[in-house]
Amino acid sequence: MSIAENLAQIHQEVASIATSCGRSPEDIKIVAVSKRFPAEAIKEACKAGHMLFGENYIQEAEKKIEKLDNKPFFHFIGHLQRNKAKIAARLFDCIETVDSLKLAKSLNGHLEKEGKVLKILLQVNIGEDPNKAGTAEQDTEQLLREVKELPNLRAIGLMTMPPLTATPEEARPYFRNLKMLSERLALQGLFDSQHKVELSMGMSADFPIAIEEGATIIRIGTAIFGTRNY
Ligand SMILES: *Cc1c(COP(=O)(O)O)cnc(C)c1O
Repeated sequence: MSIAENLAQIHQEVASIATSCGRSPEDIKIVAVSKRFPAEAIKEACKAGHMLFGENYIQEAEKKIEKLDNKPFFHFIGHLQRNKAKIAARLFDCIETVDSLKLAKSLNGHLEKEGKVLKILLQVNIGEDPNKAGTAEQDTEQLLREVKELPNLRAIGLMTMPPLTATPEEARPYFRNLKMLSERLALQGLFDSQHKVELSMGMSADFPIAIEEGATIIRIGTAIFGTRNY
């Protein structure tokens, strides 16, 4: 199937899952994860009307974005090293993986110089998986309070990658916990008040479960672009 056909199918599935759990399909954004696929794949998706992409690697993203003649939106969803914060602040519309004050401060400093304000999500290691990045659940509130003091960052929600599970259904408790955490933090007014709170969770294999548990951003690679070659 073509990228356009895959996108159409994902949209259809998102709509039917959202409707069946009483949510509005428009409340769920699809980040098309284009890592390891060439700029041509992004162009093809743009041609099909898709304008929101996710990239994991700064250098790879920079090269691809240069080759595009339009400017779709990009979320950064990989592990961000501080020495790449400057380029990331320039290239991306949202950084989904902020998980330390050092990184947040570094981003904020570069943004100040450019006179730019950037939306971010805090990445939470909700399953306490030693192989995954993200703040511990219990440290998220503190980090959010500190980020709130940084004038060029807007914390608009949380992102997570649950531990690898044998079945998508087993990821449900992690998604549910992230949603509960975000509700607790929202009640304390810790997210940017100009935006609705975003929850980035769910990938090709488990996005239906994530939507049922309240995802507002799903990050879909394989189901749109096909299997990645490394
Ligand atoms: C690669 C990646 C995805 C997309 O994964 P698929 O299983 O291909 O949909 C989503 N989120 C993050 C953080 C990723 O690194």
